[in-house]
Amino acid sequence: MTATTPEFDYVIVGGGTSGPVLAARLSEDPEATVCLIEWGPSDQREPRALQLLRWAEMLESEFDLAYRSVPQPRGNSHIVQSRARILGGCSSHNTMIAFRPPLADLREWEALGASGWGEDFAAYYDLLLTNIVAVAPEHRNPFLQDVIETAAAALNIPLRESWNDTQWTDGAGFLELGYYPETGVRSSASVDYLHPIMGRRSNLTTLLETRVTRVLIDAHRRAEGVQMRLADGSVAEVRARREVILCAGAIDTPRLLLLSGVGPAEELATAGVTVVHNLPGVGRNLMDHPEGLLVWEASRPVPELAASQWDAIIATRLDAEREAADILCHIPLLTLAENAERLGFQTPRHSITLTPNVARPRSRGRVWIGSADPDQPPLIDYGYFTDPDGHDERTLLAGIRMGRQLAQTQPMAGWIKREVFPGAEVQEDSELSALARQAHHTVYHVSGTCRIGAIDDPLGVVDPQLRVRGIDGLRVADASVFPTLTTVNPVITVLMVGERAADLISGRLRTS
Ligand SMILES: Cc1cc2nc3c(=O)[nH]c(=O)nc-3n(C[C@H](O)[C@H](O)[C@H](O)COP(=O)(O)OP(=O)(O)OC[C@H]3O[C@@H](n4cnc5c(N)ncnc54)[C@H](O)[C@@H]3O)c2cc1C
Repeated sequence: MTATTPEFDYVIVGGGTSGPVLAARLSEDPEATVCLIEWGPSDQREPRALQLLRWAEMLESEFDLAYRSVPQPRGNSHIVQSRARILGGCSSHNTMIAFRPPLADLREWEALGASGWGEDFAAYYDLLLTNIVAVAPEHRNPFLQDVIETAAAALNIPLRESWNDTQWTDGAGFLELGYYPETGVRSSASVDYLHPIMGRRSNLTTLLETRVTRVLIDAHRRAEGVQMRLADGSVAEVRARREVILCAGAIDTPRLLLLSGVGPAEELATAGVTVVHNLPGVGRNLMDHPEGLLVWEASRPVPELAASQWDAIIATRLDAEREAADILCHIPLLTLAENAERLGFQTPRHSITLTPNVARPRSRGRVWIGSADPDQPPLIDYGYFTDPDGHDERTLLAGIRMGRQLAQTQPMAGWIKREVFPGAEVQEDSELSALARQAHHTVYHVSGTCRIGAIDDPLGVVDPQLRVRGIDGLRVADASVFPTLTTVNPVITVLMVGERAADLISGRLRTS
């Protein structure tokens, strides 16, 4: 760094889901200067990113980092992990299913050493600028109504209109989404937190199409700024007077720490990176929600009416004593048979799909780098279905069997002609499991790779104030910090992490 290196109080890496929240909140203080650095372009003129219903057009588009994994001996080796490289990040790409994190999950976080991340953290839901509303009446698909009524009766669970004002354990119903029903525009982090202030706050600088390649850490182990590559390929640096905050997501945040020499010493040495600080938990504890797949031929065309195409859900427990659901079964309004087709199954013209997921996965994976070259893709091993007691496999199977039960019950049965995948002839557990595990999806909920931990947690990467252990002036605030994966879809929890991080950093912490 030189005397002319641009300086800001706060440098935020990643303008995805939590990054915009931090940029907006920290720049509320006119005395503080904030620099938000985003790898991708703006979403402001990109209808595929703005219109919720166009989310699938973002899959494997120019905005999708589309990460692949190493082979998964017990799961699907062909998963494409979408990560959106655009302002708003995955909140500009996802279906904005909007769940408040269940208290049972947050109590578990606290029990694991994340003090302050229980009831106090839950209160941050009320601060969000996100427009969380139930799927509007004009977007409600009659087929989904039939499926949720079938599930409520067949599984003896309540029909729900709201998921965010009670502590529920099961139920079926239309969801709450982050969207503006009148326009169909998504309520992403960029739409709500950045668009209203971009170009209007002189203390907020947003660098787009700029990729951070390294956190610069001085001899006293203090993060002094970042090195980045601009759109024209040139290399530049910015200095952080107070802090660097990493919001690059559960794959790219640990990747950036590793490229900066912070991580497991042996892994860094193998990759040819000079060790700055040995921190064994970086990249460990990778979690995701694997989801099973059931496809039927429909007896008649399913109406297309939708808000997001993922508008309703069935949540069930396998054990009545559990404080949270074990299976979250989405009912997508689009054909999702690619993984079955790869195994030789043919998708009929009119089809119906259910995707029951493992809501509390116990398998753990990791993210690491193979070399010091930032252009080499990250290495990802989800460890799908490797938990020693077989919980995830059992839950996947239970979800598939639940889907079959619903398909045989009216009124859903009236929509079904025949089972296509896994196929009615596949009944025996081991055969069903093998097929289900080869064709499962991801719900794109990677998290946990820089988890919050108490001081005695050997895999803790950040403390409960989100400060990276052993390095001054450096925090992580995105889905990486989850100690365990929320039972529910996580985007609202990530936005809440952004809100709480802003309070932790500015010193105005709100508690319940
Ligand atoms: C297709 C899809 C559907 C989903 N559906 C839902 C849903 O309906 N509901 C739900 O709750 N969750 C959903 N999710 C998950 C949810 O969107 C994510 O968990 C959440 O948005 C992750 O937020 P994040 O801030 O951790 O990371 P991201 O949103 O991925 O943000 C990271 C940002 O950092 C940028 N970046 C990365 N590396 C660098 C670097 N080196 N330099 C500069 N910038 C960098 C990226 O471009 C990106 O903008 C979905 C995800 C996907 C992909």
